[in-house]
Amino acid sequence: MPTNVSNNDTMEKFHQECILLETFMVDIINEIKVKVCIFFPNFTKDINSLNYRFNSRMRTTAGRAYFKQNLIELNLRLFLNLSDLEKKEVVIHEISHLISFQYFHHTAHGKPFREVLKKLGAKNLSAFHSYNVQHLKNKTKLFKYSCGCVSSENNTIGKIRYNRIKKGYKYRCKKCNFIIKLIK
Ligand SMILES: [Zn+2]
Ligand SMILES: [Zn+2]
Repeated sequence: MPTNVSNNDTMEKFHQECILLETFMVDIINEIKVKVCIFFPNFTKDINSLNYRFNSRMRTTAGRAYFKQNLIELNLRLFLNLSDLEKKEVVIHEISHLISFQYFHHTAHGKPFREVLKKLGAKNLSAFHSYNVQHLKNKTKLFKYSCGCVSSENNTIGKIRYNRIKKGYKYRCKKCNFIIKLIK
């Protein structure tokens, strides 16, 4: 029967997740903007032009700040798998780069940057690099699955698909085209 569980369901769920993510982003950006207006009034004129965009091809970082464009770019794949708290940390981190550049002409992770982070309510003031890398490491962890292959011993999927299957997504084995089942 479920021969056609199809990409439509998967695409639909992906679409729903993206809508939820955008809604979350509106809330979180507004919350941060209020703090910016309080603590960094000189940045207030720039706050309306402050923008974000998702990049679905980003692999090596959680986010990136573009000073001239007053823009932050975020790792879509990562964001679809982070907790709300983690997403907030990344957004605060990148916006803090924009502000510490405007205020202190500071582009690194030094003291001025950490001051901004603290004011905007970041929980993580020091280990943001290992934080980013940590997630990328998690992403490379592979999980075995069962399918229709005679020997599925070497068949693996990454953490993102593993988590999606747990949520109800269906994926097919590329070799045998059976629906992938998680082991255990
Ligand atoms: Zn940074
Ligand atoms: Zn298979």
